Amino acid sequence: MIEFELIHEDTRTKARAGILRTPHGDIETPVFMPVGTKATVKAMTPDELTAIGAQIILGNTYHLYLRPGHDLIREAGGLHAFMGWEKPILTDSGGFQVFSLSDMRKITDEGVEFRSVVDGSTHFFTPEKVIEIEEAIGADIIMVLDECTAYPVERPDAERAVVRTYEWAKRCKDALTTDQALFGIVQGATYENLRKRSAELTVELDFPGYAIGGLSVGEPHSLMFEILDYTVPILPREKPRYVMGLGNPTSLIESIALGVDMFDCVLPTRVARNGMALTSEGKLNMRNARFARDYSPLDPAHDCYVCEKYSRAYIRHLVQAGEILGARLLTWHNLAYLIDTMADAREAIIEDRFAQFRDTYLSEHEKEFGIV
Ligand SMILES: [Zn+2]
Repeated sequence: MIEFELIHEDTRTKARAGILRTPHGDIETPVFMPVGTKATVKAMTPDELTAIGAQIILGNTYHLYLRPGHDLIREAGGLHAFMGWEKPILTDSGGFQVFSLSDMRKITDEGVEFRSVVDGSTHFFTPEKVIEIEEAIGADIIMVLDECTAYPVERPDAERAVVRTYEWAKRCKDALTTDQALFGIVQGATYENLRKRSAELTVELDFPGYAIGGLSVGEPHSLMFEILDYTVPILPREKPRYVMGLGNPTSLIESIALGVDMFDCVLPTRVARNGMALTSEGKLNMRNARFARDYSPLDPAHDCYVCEKYSRAYIRHLVQAGEILGARLLTWHNLAYLIDTMADAREAIIEDRFAQFRDTYLSEHEKEFGIV
């Protein structure tokens, strides 16, 4: 069970600051949720995540089902106990991975058949099966199985996905036997009336929270915000709203202004392993020769452990030498940077100066971060 309390709504934008209460602790929103795909946020221990202010992390149902298997996780006492993380967890439904990773998949109204990325074996996800897996994993917040469409998609296919997502959402709700908070997901691709219809249908089912799926899948930046602008207001004011798969700092700030409370993305951790830092100066490719003798902090405007202790020259050296510590330090900083940016945004909302905060942040960073 969760409870969502709105602390303040900005007067000039639709931004909100809230508290999401879960069985494993309170979450201050807006919030960025680091992704722990395979029961680990890559390169970070739970204590380190706590040190940088992570309030909730994600687990991926698809990956955990394939390896180590949800029965093993249940036997270990659930994902919290298994991975040693005592704060809230959210699991996705695995739908996105089934639709994006699997080379072979067959979708029917009953469910979706797919081939494992681990060993090529064949599996079948139904809404009921996904709820069984998510119950075994035991996250505080769990997601319905939805049909994700790619970009671009023809209207009849997008329409069918909306209907199927609604039917599957009903079945997920009926299958749930625990008091975990099950969130509905809005689909509808880039079609305004499909998005609105999907939002209305999902809201009718009365979930404790709502996600907007199928965004940030290659559509133009401006189109994504247009979709959020007309979809978010259909979702109930008193429930948390979550945009799945968004991690570009400027996109988060713009989405917060449209009334979104929760975000997740592999971006900060994935780009870290490629030698990229997200900083107040934008994206820095630490392989760049210009950092070879740069003994200044990674981000002079940031005060995390990494920025306090290590120079750009040292981090560049680690990345160039393929040292594990390079990926670890960049992961640490990138997550801390996003989490701190969310905390700054929250403070600005509470002090009713978010419009100014957004304008300043976007004018300083839009060019550097670009469109992701
Ligand atoms: Zn830092």
